Amino acid sequence: MAKSMQPYRCGVCGYIYEPGRGEPGQKIPPGTAFEELPADYTCPVCGAGPRSFLLLAGRTGRYLCVACGYIYDPERGEPKRGIPPGTDFRDLPESYICPVCGVYAKVGKQAFIAID
Ligand SMILES: [Zn+2]
Ligand SMILES: [Zn+2]
Repeated sequence: MAKSMQPYRCGVCGYIYEPGRGEPGQKIPPGTAFEELPADYTCPVCGAGPRSFLLLAGRTGRYLCVACGYIYDPERGEPKRGIPPGTDFRDLPESYICPVCGVYAKVGKQAFIAID
């Protein structure tokens, strides 16, 4: 597996892991790719595990609302809500809320995790 050295963002709190910086607080030296992090790596801000992180650069796939299970599919978009097909999840407005559970609780983008 090639080292990507790309930044990853915590899907829970928005913290960004920078390979060039590493994670000195967890004894992870600068230059450590996200893929090389130990399995017990956790977000220094919220404590989420590596599976909660998503790639910050490059095209993304589908996203899952962890609150209700709704899946945002960029191929499909949400035309009824004015989001055209082909819209990357990260390009959604910050005001985006889950179309299913966001109606009852203000469940926003932070509740979504990448599943592709
Ligand atoms: Zn976090
Ligand atoms: Zn939802």
